Amino acid sequence: MSPDIQSVRIGEISITCLPDGAANIDGHPYREDTDSGEEVDWSWYHHKFPNDFHGDSHNWRIHNNCFLIQTNETNILVDTGVGVGPYPRYKNMHGTLMQSLGAAGVSVTEINYVVLTHAHPDHVAWNVDAEGSPYFPNAHYLLHQKDWDEFTGRTPVPPFFVRFVEPLKEIGLLRLISGNVEIAPGVTCFETPGHTPGSVSIRISSQGEYLYVTGDVIVSPFYVFEPSRAFHSDLNSREGISTRIQLIEEVVEHTGLIASAHIGSSGIGSVLPSGGDYEFRPLFR
Ligand SMILES: [Zn+2]
Ligand SMILES: [Zn+2]
Repeated sequence: MSPDIQSVRIGEISITCLPDGAANIDGHPYREDTDSGEEVDWSWYHHKFPNDFHGDSHNWRIHNNCFLIQTNETNILVDTGVGVGPYPRYKNMHGTLMQSLGAAGVSVTEINYVVLTHAHPDHVAWNVDAEGSPYFPNAHYLLHQKDWDEFTGRTPVPPFFVRFVEPLKEIGLLRLISGNVEIAPGVTCFETPGHTPGSVSIRISSQGEYLYVTGDVIVSPFYVFEPSRAFHSDLNSREGISTRIQLIEEVVEHTGLIASAHIGSSGIGSVLPSGGDYEFRPLFR
C-alpha cells in the first residue's frame, strides 16, 4: 500500500481514505462576512493543523477525500471527487481518486455502492467518463432525492450536474434515497441537511465502535472547535449549524471517529469534549 493510503478498522469494517488531491486555495474555511462572531485566530489553527492551512495569511489548504468502506461482502465508495479535472475552484486540480483506489488494491468493478454525500462538483465528478459511461459499472449510485430535486430544479440545471449526475439516471444506476438507508450491516446513511437539502452522512458501527463519514458537515478542524460558525458554502447555514452540532454530539456520545471530505492527514480523527467545547485530534499525522 502506498504511504498516502491510510486505513482504520471499526470492529469488522475497514475504512480507507482515498485522496483525490489537495489545493492551496484563497481565503479561509469560512468567510468572515457571513458571521458576526469574534475574529478567528487562524494562526492558532495553522500551527495546530499544519496540513490544513497555508501561507502567511493562514489560508485554506483544502483536501479532497473520498472514502472506501469495506465490510466482509461489500465495497462502498463515498463520493467521487473532482474527476479528471482541471477543477478551477481548487486551483485547476486533477483528481487522483483512481490512483488512490488502485493503491488500496480495489478495482472499479469491485465497487458495489457509490454513496454521494451531496451533489456538489467536488464530490461527483468521477461518476461517469466523458462519454457518460460509469467509472463504477457494477455499483448502485445513491443520492438523496432532495439533492436531485434541488439541482434539477435550477434554471439552468448546473452543467456539472448535467455532465456527472444526470447520465447515471439515464443508464439506470442512480438510486434516489430518503430517510435512513442501511447499505450493509453496520453501514447506515442518514440525513444531515443544511450544506445542501439532501446532504447525508454515513454512520459505521461494529462491535461497539463508531465512525462517521461527514461529507461537508465538517470540512475543517475549525468546525469541530467552533461548530456554530456559519460555513459559507452551506445553502442553509442555520440548518447547517444545527446539523453539525447534532452530529458532533452523536460522535462524542459514541466516542467515535469522523472522516471528513476536506480535512488533511486522511481526514480521520476523533472528536473529544474539552471543557464545554470540542476538539479534533487527527488519527494520522
Ligand atoms: Zn459541498
Ligand atoms: Zn465539498
